[in-house]
Amino acid sequence: APALVALSEPAVTTPAVSKTLFEKIIDRELPATIVYEDELCLAFKDIHPCAPMHVLLVPKKPIVQLSQAAPEDQALLGHLMLTATKVAALEGLGEAYRLVINNGAAAGMSVSHLHLHLIGGRPLKWPPA
Ligand code: C5P
Repeated sequence: APALVALSEPAVTTPAVSKTLFEKIIDRELPATIVYEDELCLAFKDIHPCAPMHVLLVPKKPIVQLSQAAPEDQALLGHLMLTATKVAALEGLGEAYRLVINNGAAAGMSVSHLHLHLIGGRPLKWPPA
């Protein structure tokens, strides 16, 4: 009977939640130009840079977006900010750079894994578009 045939099919296992693009970059399943890494975070060049220097900093912990960070993430969030200053220095940005976090699709967020944009290398106007 068809029902028995269906039961004999091998089980299909799918992960509960599929990996985001940035998790795949962290896990080296997708290529990226990595400029910094430590045990908590990874920094790599944005593939569509909006300035001569445009790096993304991502926590290895898959926090969906800033508004979903938990109190226990406080030290990690501070680490990301301080690491951004370190990467800015490594990339020769001096004291002139911008950090941006887009939170939510309506604010321009397109990858559901918290990331800081580190932007510099040209004069930056305020407010951004
Ligand atoms: O803040 P938002 O979610 O829009 O930022 C996502 C960023 O990820 C974009 O600047 C986009 O260019 C970048 N990106 C990337 N590599 C990919 C896909 C997106 O650097 N493979």
